[in-house]
Amino acid sequence: MSAADHLRAAIRDVVDFPKPGIVFKDITPVLADGKLFRESISLLCKTAGDRKIDKVVGIDARGFIFAAAVADRLGAGFVPVRKKGKLPWKTRQTAYALEYGESIVELHEDAVKPGETILLVDDLLATGGTAAAAVKLIDELGADIAGISVLIELTFLQGRSKLGRHPVHAILTY
Ligand code: AMP
Repeated sequence: MSAADHLRAAIRDVVDFPKPGIVFKDITPVLADGKLFRESISLLCKTAGDRKIDKVVGIDARGFIFAAAVADRLGAGFVPVRKKGKLPWKTRQTAYALEYGESIVELHEDAVKPGETILLVDDLLATGGTAAAAVKLIDELGADIAGISVLIELTFLQGRSKLGRHPVHAILTY
């Protein structure tokens, strides 16, 4: 089996969580296995290719786990995109639509600089709303997004279509 096959076998489907009709992809078995976790980080790093990454931006909250490890592996800084009200310094924020209502994510306004090369990392790409909001914040600060790296992509939700010209790399697709 390939490394991706081992990861796929470890991810647990939890039906009707957090609400009826959702099949939640539980990545905690990957995190709990040292070999699988390390392998997932290696594969997420590949999106960077030969490019020198200045900062890895991770999305609240499971994205942080992967993004911080990727940043360490690439010798890059780590920057959190957080849900509204969690970041202590001056922020930029953007609202995005959820299935019901909307949500707001924030980025410290000095966290990424114009011209820096960024890798955006999250655990899972679903509708793409969250990643698109993070992309908007990074774009507004004038940084250059080298790619978007996710462990899992739910392709039937077509999240990629919201991410424009930015290359998206998913290790596992469903
Ligand atoms: P979206 O904005 O729709 O792309 O949702 C992406 C965020 O929601 C990711 O950060 C995921 O952590 C979480 N998410 C959405 N759908 C699922 C799912 N089926 N299983 C696990 N996490 C999910």
